[in-house]
Amino acid sequence: MAMFAMSGVMYAQPDRAPVVFSQTIHEGGGALQIDFAEGAIDLGRAAVVDRIQMAAHAVSVYYGRFPVAKARVLVIPSAGRHGVMQGTTWGAMSGFPAFLRLRVGQRTTADELKVDWVITHELTHTALASLPDDQHWFEEGLASYVEPIARVQAGELAAKSIWADMVSGMPNGEPVAGDRGLDHTHTWGRTYWGGALFCLSADVEIRRQTRNRYGLQDALRAIVAAGDTIDKEMPVESVLRVGDGATHTRVLEEMYVRWSQTAVPVELEALWQQLGVKPDGSLDDAAPESAIRRAITATSR
Ligand SMILES: [Zn+2]
Repeated sequence: MAMFAMSGVMYAQPDRAPVVFSQTIHEGGGALQIDFAEGAIDLGRAAVVDRIQMAAHAVSVYYGRFPVAKARVLVIPSAGRHGVMQGTTWGAMSGFPAFLRLRVGQRTTADELKVDWVITHELTHTALASLPDDQHWFEEGLASYVEPIARVQAGELAAKSIWADMVSGMPNGEPVAGDRGLDHTHTWGRTYWGGALFCLSADVEIRRQTRNRYGLQDALRAIVAAGDTIDKEMPVESVLRVGDGATHTRVLEEMYVRWSQTAVPVELEALWQQLGVKPDGSLDDAAPESAIRRAITATSR
């Protein structure tokens, strides 16, 4: 789901709106059937299709392929509104391995589409098995962490901008008084940013332990390669084991044991210094672990 709370009426059957236009696009070996429900889009439907293709491309660059063979995207225009307002992704629905519902404002401008992150976030959800409710933080944290990195790797964003966003956003993911670990603390901050902080910390730790040979991206690609995508329901431990196998470490499994049950604070200021990210988000290539920071956003082999 998107990073903002949903509002309005939920459809009992989210995939059932009548379709007035349909187009199938191909990206990274996957086919995306894009269906439009009734309603005007001032820019034209083609602009929305192009933006979905761009998002599918970024996700395919990050994972080395589009995560599922087929996905259905249902676009619901929203009269008089602006931007990609909300998105939700389900596994194994509507006859597809992945089904996304996007609400797009009728008055959405080209600039609003260009800077959209919601579609990329939602498509990233296809790359991970559906986990039990207690690990919702890993689903959301992963999508929140991967989305901007995928967009940098695809050439859509500058690396500098996403590190600046992490500097301002990651403190939202730190545990506060009374925190009982990520499996038991289902606040907005801990779900989205706490999950993203887990992913960043895991990425850096994998790279430290492997001398920057492997990163979280290798683990996530292996999870997709194993078919542990959104259409499967799996325990988190199985998914993390597959990821660790690809990096020849135990980072994900060991971190999960600690972070799921206890409040684990991160020394963010020290981490940014090591990685060479200054408080204003500018980057320092002379920092001790700047090679790790650059590897995270480098387009992968
Ligand atoms: Zn989400």
